[in-house]
Amino acid sequence: MKRVLLVEDEQIMAKNIAFFLEREGYQVDIAYDGKAALELFAARPYDLLLLDWTLPKMDGLAVCKSIRRESSVPIIMLTAKGETLDKIIGLEVGADDYLVKPFDLRELLARIHALMRRLETVSDESADNAWLQYEDLLLDREKLLLFCHGKKMALTANEYKLLEIMMKKPENVFSREFLYEQVWEGTPAYNDRTVDVTISRLRKKILELSGKKYFHAVRGIGYRLGGQP
Ligand code: CA
Repeated sequence: MKRVLLVEDEQIMAKNIAFFLEREGYQVDIAYDGKAALELFAARPYDLLLLDWTLPKMDGLAVCKSIRRESSVPIIMLTAKGETLDKIIGLEVGADDYLVKPFDLRELLARIHALMRRLETVSDESADNAWLQYEDLLLDREKLLLFCHGKKMALTANEYKLLEIMMKKPENVFSREFLYEQVWEGTPAYNDRTVDVTISRLRKKILELSGKKYFHAVRGIGYRLGGQP
């Protein structure tokens, strides 16, 4: 049974979400503030985090940052209407997806399934070839870890999927739309920055490991991994 940590300070909403997910076969623990969330997370493993943005004691941003230092657990942010900037910040600190309140519980379930599927396809494919390599970068397809020069870095499901696609065809130019459709399974909204933000996070991680700039922006199209700048 998949374990979900739900972090939400509005008690009625939290109980509604928990009730719904439990009926769908998930085991749900609720934390009503950010500090309690970190305590629960440290105490036991979870398969997924649902994280409200505005929380007492410690906000969702700080909780997400703190968890990302040690874990690549899937995180869906729950934001209030109109907090569009939050989406970008949420992606920057490593959330995998976000939902704007009020949302339909079936939509939440669809997002959860999509994330879980992404993780499963990752482990399915790993059976035939556990490692993917390009130059000094080595991708561990079972553990979602990136190795370089003997150092390692944990990737989130979205970062992993995006990097995997690009490492399979190095020096190939990928459009933002293609990458979005492959990783997030949908059509990006006009001016959506999800792909750019995820690439910039990956770029930072890879630069930290290798000291090298692997991603190149291709004006008007998208991105390329490797090749001449
Ligand atoms: Ca709240």
